[in-house]
Amino acid sequence: MVERGLLIVFSGPSGVGKGTVRKAVFDHADCKIRYSVSMTTRPQRPGEVDGKDYFFRSREFFEDTVRNGQMLEYAEYVGNYYGTPLASVNQLLDEGFDVMLEIEVQGALQVKEKVPDGVFIFLTPPDLHELRQRLQERGTDDRKAIEGRMVKAREEIHMMSAYDYVVVNDVVDLAAERVKKIIETEHYRVERVIGKYEAMLDDLDKA
Ligand code: 5GP
Repeated sequence: MVERGLLIVFSGPSGVGKGTVRKAVFDHADCKIRYSVSMTTRPQRPGEVDGKDYFFRSREFFEDTVRNGQMLEYAEYVGNYYGTPLASVNQLLDEGFDVMLEIEVQGALQVKEKVPDGVFIFLTPPDLHELRQRLQERGTDDRKAIEGRMVKAREEIHMMSAYDYVVVNDVVDLAAERVKKIIETEHYRVERVIGKYEAMLDDLDKA
């Protein structure tokens, strides 16, 4: 029987570099990790590919999916819906892949309720000054939007205590290395592996 994969929830404030770190983890990872492609109602940005970056869908379609119980979690973030389609996550986990969700905090809290044995990793900036600088350098937002993102970032950083691990994104490759180590180590948790040793444990009682 294939060992079920780990559900990894990866969050962090806007601008912290979640996407970049996630891609660095996937580039190097020899472990079996797959990215869960979310569904969103936000407009597609230039360069984004439907089905790869997100499934871009209408609000009606999204709401139907939620009503039909087909979302593991979902949240409204800055006026748009974002959610994790349940079926594909379950299929990948059943096939033995670790599955990484890159989602915001409200969604992560819903996953924690439903999948308490998931691995919850929060990516943090070294400090708020650095985060503001990264948002400015990214050049995708005007001054007002950056202030909005900073307010949201403060709320999100407050929630880091709900996670199992906090990784600082000071240098992308180092952050990716830390995330990989966490995932590798999680595979050895006693509650995940003890089932494999049942026969030996039974033998101990017989001896
Ligand atoms: P963006 O519009 O910049 O791609 O994403 C905005 C925020 O939504 C990011 O924090 C991103 O991690 C989060 N997000 C992306 N997909 C999902 C999802 O499926 N569920 C939830 N709850 N958040 C998501």
